[in-house]
Amino acid sequence: KLKVGILCMQGAFLEHRNSLERLGVEVKEVRKAEQLEGLDGLVLPGGESTAIGKLIRELGIKDRMEALITGGLPVWGTCAGMILLAKKLTGSDVVHMPMMDIEVTRNAYGRQLGSFSADVPMKGVEGDVPMVFIRAPYINKSEDNVETLSVVDGNTVAARQKNMLVTSFHPELTDDLRVHEYFVNMVRESK
Ligand code: GLN
Repeated sequence: KLKVGILCMQGAFLEHRNSLERLGVEVKEVRKAEQLEGLDGLVLPGGESTAIGKLIRELGIKDRMEALITGGLPVWGTCAGMILLAKKLTGSDVVHMPMMDIEVTRNAYGRQLGSFSADVPMKGVEGDVPMVFIRAPYINKSEDNVETLSVVDGNTVAARQKNMLVTSFHPELTDDLRVHEYFVNMVRESK
């Protein structure tokens, strides 16, 4: 059975757990560095990136996580998770685990559109994906080694760079399992 960890600092981790378990994956909650060992994949859930970034530093999880991801561990950042992995955040000097060659705008959709959903195609998934955005970030710039998987209103909302997948939206808040399936396939292929 594949073992996938979920970083459980804060935010929408229970929902990820449900979706992954429905796909037959063994889920491990990660609250300290030791719990990162022996995983086949790792999910960084949505929430508040500033809070999660602070906790992973304080709890000493960050360095080990960076080393594992650099070593090829498949990782999927949703929403705040995308912010954690970005090498650059627009208008900010802060970065958390600068691993992915993307520049990200936080809270990119403004007040009016703070939360919305849309059915949008995503490369690697057949048919439209129901996407839920909650004060979501998007990718405004990326290097050539980053593959754009989905675009909403001209902005990239899903992308992949080798073992790293990021989505602006929250598949775990829908019944649709296909983006989780996409990630589980990444995990299976890297094993
Ligand atoms: N706005 C949040 C942040 O900047 C992300 C929102 C989310 O994860 N749903 O961290």
